[in-house]
Amino acid sequence: MSQERSESTRGVSGRYDELLAVTRELASRNGLTIGSGLKTAVVGALLCSNICERKIKYSLEHQTSNRYEKFDPLFTAKSDYATLKIVDHIKSRLDKEQVLASITCESQDETGAYDVLIESSNPSGTVPNHHTKIKLEVKAGLGVALEQVERYLWEPSPLVLIRVMSRQVIRLDPSELNEFLNFAVAEDVQKAKRLLGGKYHTVPGKYCAACMDFACEHNKFRPPKEVRMIQFSDTNAQEDLNLFLRNLAFVAEKAASLVIQELQEEEAKDGNQAKR
Ligand code: SF4
Repeated sequence: MSQERSESTRGVSGRYDELLAVTRELASRNGLTIGSGLKTAVVGALLCSNICERKIKYSLEHQTSNRYEKFDPLFTAKSDYATLKIVDHIKSRLDKEQVLASITCESQDETGAYDVLIESSNPSGTVPNHHTKIKLEVKAGLGVALEQVERYLWEPSPLVLIRVMSRQVIRLDPSELNEFLNFAVAEDVQKAKRLLGGKYHTVPGKYCAACMDFACEHNKFRPPKEVRMIQFSDTNAQEDLNLFLRNLAFVAEKAASLVIQELQEEEAKDGNQAKR
Protein backbone atom coordinates (compact mmCIF):
# COMPACT_ATOMS: atom_id res chain seq x y z
CA MET A 1 0.00 0.00 0.00
CA SER A 2 2.94 2.32 0.66
CA GLN A 3 3.82 2.45 -3.02
CA GLU A 4 0.17 2.76 -4.12
CA ARG A 5 -0.34 5.43 -1.51
CA SER A 6 2.67 7.48 -2.54
CA GLU A 7 1.50 7.24 -6.20
CA SER A 8 -2.01 8.33 -5.39
CA THR A 9 -1.03 11.14 -3.03
CA ARG A 10 1.64 12.67 -5.23
CA GLY A 11 -0.66 15.50 -6.33
CA VAL A 12 -1.83 16.14 -2.80
CA SER A 13 1.74 15.94 -1.46
CA GLY A 14 2.78 18.66 -3.90
CA ARG A 15 -0.10 20.83 -2.75
CA TYR A 16 0.72 20.04 0.89
CA ASP A 17 4.32 21.21 0.34
CA GLU A 18 3.02 24.42 -1.24
CA LEU A 19 0.63 24.93 1.65
CA LEU A 20 3.41 24.43 4.20
CA ALA A 21 5.56 26.96 2.34
CA VAL A 22 2.87 29.66 2.45
CA THR A 23 1.86 28.94 6.06
CA ARG A 24 5.53 29.13 7.08
CA GLU A 25 5.84 32.45 5.29
CA LEU A 26 2.72 33.83 6.99
CA ALA A 27 3.93 32.60 10.40
CA SER A 28 7.38 34.08 9.84
CA ARG A 29 6.09 37.48 8.65
CA ASN A 30 3.80 37.75 11.68
CA GLY A 31 6.41 36.63 14.21
CA LEU A 32 4.45 33.51 15.12
CA THR A 33 7.15 31.35 16.65
CA ILE A 34 7.36 28.60 19.20
CA GLY A 35 10.87 27.90 20.47
CA SER A 36 13.03 27.89 17.36
CA GLY A 37 10.11 26.78 15.12
CA LEU A 38 7.16 28.48 13.46
CA LYS A 39 3.53 28.16 14.54
CA THR A 40 2.40 26.84 11.16
CA ALA A 41 -0.43 24.83 12.76
CA VAL A 42 -1.91 28.07 14.13
CA VAL A 43 -1.76 29.66 10.68
CA GLY A 44 -3.24 26.52 9.08
CA ALA A 45 -6.12 26.53 11.57
CA LEU A 46 -6.87 30.20 10.88
CA LEU A 47 -6.74 29.65 7.13
CA CYS A 48 -9.12 26.75 6.93
CA SER A 49 -11.59 27.86 9.61
CA ASN A 50 -12.32 31.47 8.58
CA ILE A 51 -14.23 32.79 5.60
CA CYS A 52 -13.33 36.43 6.29
CA GLU A 53 -9.71 36.99 5.28
CA ARG A 54 -9.56 40.33 7.07
CA LYS A 55 -10.32 38.42 10.28
CA ILE A 56 -7.44 36.00 9.54
CA LYS A 57 -5.11 38.94 8.95
CA TYR A 58 -6.21 40.57 12.20
CA SER A 59 -5.78 37.31 14.15
CA LEU A 60 -2.30 36.75 12.67
CA GLU A 61 -1.20 40.24 13.62
CA HIS A 62 -2.78 40.47 17.07
CA GLN A 63 -3.16 36.90 18.39
CA THR A 64 -6.00 38.06 20.61
CA SER A 65 -8.71 35.89 22.03
CA ASN A 66 -12.29 36.65 23.02
CA ARG A 67 -12.58 34.14 25.82
CA TYR A 68 -15.66 35.42 27.59
CA GLU A 69 -16.93 31.90 28.11
CA LYS A 70 -15.55 29.17 30.34
CA PHE A 71 -16.44 25.54 29.78
CA ASP A 72 -17.28 23.16 32.58
CA PRO A 73 -14.04 21.16 33.20
CA LEU A 74 -16.17 18.02 32.71
CA PHE A 75 -15.86 18.56 28.94
CA THR A 76 -12.05 18.36 29.05
CA ALA A 77 -12.08 15.57 31.61
CA LYS A 78 -14.21 13.40 29.30
CA SER A 79 -11.87 13.94 26.39
CA ASP A 80 -8.72 13.19 28.43
CA TYR A 81 -10.29 10.11 30.00
CA ALA A 82 -11.57 8.76 26.66
CA THR A 83 -8.07 9.14 25.17
CA LEU A 84 -6.52 7.39 28.19
CA LYS A 85 -8.86 4.37 28.03
CA ILE A 86 -8.67 4.06 24.24
CA VAL A 87 -4.85 4.19 24.27
CA ASP A 88 -4.71 1.69 27.15
CA HIS A 89 -6.87 -0.70 25.15
CA ILE A 90 -4.78 -0.23 21.99
CA LYS A 91 -1.63 -1.07 24.00
CA SER A 92 -3.23 -4.26 25.29
CA ARG A 93 -4.39 -5.30 21.82
CA LEU A 94 -0.94 -4.56 20.35
CA ASP A 95 0.62 -6.83 22.99
CA LYS A 96 -1.97 -9.55 22.44
CA GLU A 97 -1.55 -9.53 18.65
CA GLN A 98 2.24 -9.11 18.98
CA VAL A 99 2.28 -6.03 16.80
CA LEU A 100 5.06 -3.57 17.49
CA ALA A 101 4.22 0.13 17.39
CA SER A 102 5.03 3.34 19.20
CA ILE A 103 2.35 5.63 20.59
CA THR A 104 2.56 9.37 21.20
CA CYS A 105 -0.17 11.52 22.73
CA GLU A 106 -0.60 15.18 21.74
CA SER A 107 1.83 14.67 18.89
CA GLN A 108 2.64 18.03 17.32
CA ASP A 109 3.56 18.53 13.68
CA GLU A 110 3.21 21.45 11.29
CA THR A 111 -0.46 20.61 10.71
CA GLY A 112 -1.60 20.42 14.32
CA ALA A 113 -1.46 18.39 17.51
CA TYR A 114 -2.96 14.93 17.01
CA ASP A 115 -4.62 13.41 20.08
CA VAL A 116 -2.74 10.16 19.42
CA LEU A 117 -0.16 9.17 16.83
CA ILE A 118 0.62 5.49 16.28
CA GLU A 119 3.68 4.51 14.26
CA SER A 120 4.84 1.06 13.25
CA SER A 121 8.23 0.05 14.56
CA ASN A 122 9.24 -2.02 11.49
CA PRO A 123 11.71 -4.04 13.59
CA SER A 124 12.86 -6.32 10.78
CA GLY A 125 13.79 -3.33 8.64
CA THR A 126 12.43 -5.16 5.58
CA VAL A 127 11.41 -1.97 3.84
CA PRO A 128 13.81 0.81 4.75
CA ASN A 129 12.47 4.34 5.19
CA HIS A 130 8.88 3.16 5.40
CA HIS A 131 6.76 3.14 8.48
CA THR A 132 3.02 3.29 8.91
CA LYS A 133 1.46 6.24 10.71
CA ILE A 134 -2.09 6.45 12.00
CA LYS A 135 -3.52 9.59 13.59
CA LEU A 136 -6.38 9.35 16.11
CA GLU A 137 -8.71 12.20 16.99
CA VAL A 138 -10.93 11.54 20.00
CA LYS A 139 -14.21 13.44 20.29
CA ALA A 140 -15.89 13.03 23.67
CA GLY A 141 -18.75 15.38 22.76
CA LEU A 142 -20.98 15.36 19.71
CA GLY A 143 -19.29 18.31 17.98
CA VAL A 144 -16.89 17.76 15.09
CA ALA A 145 -14.88 20.57 13.50
CA LEU A 146 -14.61 19.63 9.85
CA GLU A 147 -11.96 22.29 9.29
CA GLN A 148 -9.83 20.42 11.84
CA VAL A 149 -10.50 17.16 10.00
CA GLU A 150 -9.39 18.79 6.74
CA ARG A 151 -6.22 20.06 8.37
CA TYR A 152 -5.38 16.63 9.76
CA LEU A 153 -5.85 15.14 6.29
CA TRP A 154 -3.19 17.41 4.79
CA GLU A 155 -0.58 15.02 6.19
CA PRO A 156 -0.83 11.83 4.04
CA SER A 157 -1.35 9.18 6.76
CA PRO A 158 -4.89 7.94 7.66
CA LEU A 159 -6.96 9.72 10.29
CA VAL A 160 -9.24 7.77 12.62
CA LEU A 161 -12.00 9.93 14.05
CA ILE A 162 -13.46 8.46 17.24
CA ARG A 163 -16.87 9.86 18.24
CA VAL A 164 -17.62 8.37 21.63
CA MET A 165 -21.17 9.66 22.01
CA SER A 166 -22.36 8.32 18.66
CA ARG A 167 -20.27 5.08 18.87
CA GLN A 168 -18.61 5.92 15.58
CA VAL A 169 -15.03 5.14 14.58
CA ILE A 170 -14.41 6.61 11.14
CA ARG A 171 -11.29 5.97 9.05
CA LEU A 172 -10.42 8.71 6.58
CA ASP A 173 -7.55 8.08 4.19
CA PRO A 174 -6.10 11.08 2.31
CA SER A 175 -5.12 8.77 -0.56
CA GLU A 176 -8.84 8.11 -1.16
CA LEU A 177 -9.76 11.80 -0.97
CA ASN A 178 -7.49 13.24 -3.63
CA GLU A 179 -10.14 15.25 -5.40
CA PHE A 180 -11.41 16.84 -2.19
CA LEU A 181 -7.91 17.54 -0.85
CA ASN A 182 -6.66 19.03 -4.09
CA PHE A 183 -9.68 21.32 -4.09
CA ALA A 184 -9.55 22.26 -0.38
CA VAL A 185 -5.80 22.74 -0.16
CA ALA A 186 -5.72 24.76 -3.41
CA GLU A 187 -8.25 27.18 -1.89
CA ASP A 188 -6.26 27.39 1.37
CA VAL A 189 -3.11 28.17 -0.64
CA GLN A 190 -4.91 30.87 -2.64
CA LYS A 191 -6.23 32.39 0.58
CA ALA A 192 -2.71 32.45 2.05
CA LYS A 193 -1.29 33.96 -1.14
CA ARG A 194 -3.91 36.72 -1.09
CA LEU A 195 -2.95 37.52 2.51
CA LEU A 196 0.75 37.50 1.65
CA GLY A 197 0.04 39.81 -1.28
CA GLY A 198 -2.09 42.17 0.86
CA LYS A 199 -5.22 41.58 -1.27
CA TYR A 200 -7.60 39.85 1.09
CA HIS A 201 -11.41 39.59 1.01
CA THR A 202 -13.52 41.11 3.79
CA VAL A 203 -16.60 38.89 4.13
CA PRO A 204 -19.04 39.85 6.91
CA GLY A 205 -21.19 37.15 8.48
CA LYS A 206 -22.59 35.93 11.78
CA TYR A 207 -19.01 35.46 13.05
CA CYS A 208 -18.69 39.31 13.14
CA ALA A 209 -20.30 38.98 16.60
CA ALA A 210 -17.13 37.23 17.83
CA CYS A 211 -14.50 39.25 15.95
CA MET A 212 -11.96 41.37 17.82
CA ASP A 213 -11.22 43.70 14.91
CA PHE A 214 -13.06 46.71 16.29
CA ALA A 215 -11.82 48.94 13.45
CA CYS A 216 -13.94 46.97 11.00
CA GLU A 217 -17.28 48.60 10.14
CA HIS A 218 -19.01 45.20 10.34
CA ASN A 219 -17.89 44.39 13.87
CA LYS A 220 -20.76 43.35 16.16
CA PHE A 221 -18.81 42.09 19.15
CA ARG A 222 -20.20 43.25 22.50
CA PRO A 223 -18.17 41.96 25.45
CA PRO A 224 -20.46 40.51 28.15
CA LYS A 225 -20.23 41.96 31.65
CA GLU A 226 -18.81 38.75 33.08
CA VAL A 227 -17.26 35.47 31.97
CA ARG A 228 -20.04 32.91 31.42
CA MET A 229 -19.73 29.26 32.50
CA ILE A 230 -21.05 26.81 29.89
CA GLN A 231 -22.33 23.68 31.59
CA PHE A 232 -25.02 21.00 31.44
CA SER A 233 -28.06 20.89 33.70
CA ASP A 234 -27.99 18.01 36.24
CA THR A 235 -30.29 15.86 34.09
CA ASN A 236 -28.36 16.52 30.90
CA ALA A 237 -25.02 15.91 32.65
CA GLN A 238 -26.32 12.58 33.97
CA GLU A 239 -27.55 11.47 30.53
CA ASP A 240 -24.36 12.68 28.85
CA LEU A 241 -22.01 10.97 31.30
CA ASN A 242 -24.00 7.73 31.27
CA LEU A 243 -23.95 7.55 27.49
CA PHE A 244 -20.25 8.44 27.39
CA LEU A 245 -19.27 5.72 29.89
CA ARG A 246 -21.50 3.09 28.21
CA ASN A 247 -19.96 3.74 24.79
CA LEU A 248 -16.31 3.93 25.80
CA ALA A 249 -15.42 0.21 25.71
CA PHE A 250 -17.22 -0.20 22.37
CA VAL A 251 -15.33 2.59 20.56
CA ALA A 252 -12.02 1.59 22.20
CA GLU A 253 -12.40 -1.94 20.80
CA LYS A 254 -13.41 -0.65 17.37
CA ALA A 255 -10.48 1.79 17.25
CA ALA A 256 -7.98 -0.83 18.46
CA SER A 257 -9.18 -3.34 15.83
CA LEU A 258 -8.84 -0.74 13.12
CA VAL A 259 -5.33 0.23 14.21
CA ILE A 260 -4.19 -3.41 14.43
CA GLN A 261 -5.65 -4.19 11.00
CA GLU A 262 -3.93 -1.16 9.48
CA LEU A 263 -0.56 -2.06 11.00
CA GLN A 264 -0.85 -5.75 10.05
CA GLU A 265 -1.85 -4.96 6.46
CA GLU A 266 1.08 -2.61 6.06
CA GLU A 267 3.42 -5.16 7.64
CA ALA A 268 2.21 -7.86 5.22
CA LYS A 269 2.64 -5.55 2.23
CA ASP A 270 6.14 -4.56 3.37
CA GLY A 271 6.97 -8.28 3.66
CA ASN A 272 5.71 -8.91 0.12
CA GLN A 273 7.65 -5.95 -1.21
CA ALA A 274 10.84 -7.10 0.49
CA LYS A 275 10.48 -10.57 -1.12
CA ARG A 276 10.25 -9.18 -4.66
S1 SF4 B 1 -16.01 42.18 11.79
FE1 SF4 B 1 -16.66 40.67 10.32
S2 SF4 B 1 -16.10 41.46 8.33
FE2 SF4 B 1 -14.99 42.63 9.84
S3 SF4 B 1 -13.01 41.62 10.01
FE3 SF4 B 1 -14.33 40.76 11.57
S4 SF4 B 1 -15.24 38.97 10.64
FE4 SF4 B 1 -14.42 40.21 8.98
